[in-house]
Amino acid sequence: ASPLEHNAAGLTLQKRGAHACMPAMRMILVGPPGAGKGTQAARLVDTSRIPHVSSGDIFRALKGTELGNKLDDYMKEGGLVPDEITIPIVLDRLTQPDCAKGFMLDGFPRTRPQAEALDKALANADVNLDVVLLIEVADGLIVERITGRRSDASGRIYHTKFDPPPPGVAVTQRGDDTEEKVTNRLRKYHSET
Ligand code: AMP
Repeated sequence: ASPLEHNAAGLTLQKRGAHACMPAMRMILVGPPGAGKGTQAARLVDTSRIPHVSSGDIFRALKGTELGNKLDDYMKEGGLVPDEITIPIVLDRLTQPDCAKGFMLDGFPRTRPQAEALDKALANADVNLDVVLLIEVADGLIVERITGRRSDASGRIYHTKFDPPPPGVAVTQRGDDTEEKVTNRLRKYHSET
């Protein structure tokens, strides 16, 4: 029998334990912006071999497209992209074949409707979450972590003070990693997530 289940919404997820070698692992990383979700995800992905599904990364990859420009209007000020845009994009990503063996969701769900939509999609596919990992960091530390955050062309994350890039490695800063925007993002995290 096929290990894959298709629900009405087209979500393809592997039933728990259906894979002969390794059970599926579905996890969510939760925490404020700059807590280290992306960094931890990159390490966990190496060991668990499941895809890192970051809603922020998906949105940034759409840069330059018509949809990407629309998303940028919300993202650049540190606000949230509306649920009616976010939910279908992220749930669609979870229908890709590489997610059948599990996934590491980072940055989604961020609102109650997103959490409910994910719950429903998982229930329809008859699968459960295995892990929800909450990374807590005090607000005071977040601002220092985020304003010093840089990344290189491969996506590797550095910090100007805590983990400076080696000489010769070109790094860039995210447009929403400024003090003003991070304050807004933290406010959203505390009020909506
Ligand atoms: P991140 O890389 O997770 O910090 O996300 C960057 C930005 O993308 C956020 O500040 C939001 O504008 C947008 N974004 C990412 N994930 C979501 C989400 N689940 N819901 C709404 N907006 C999101």
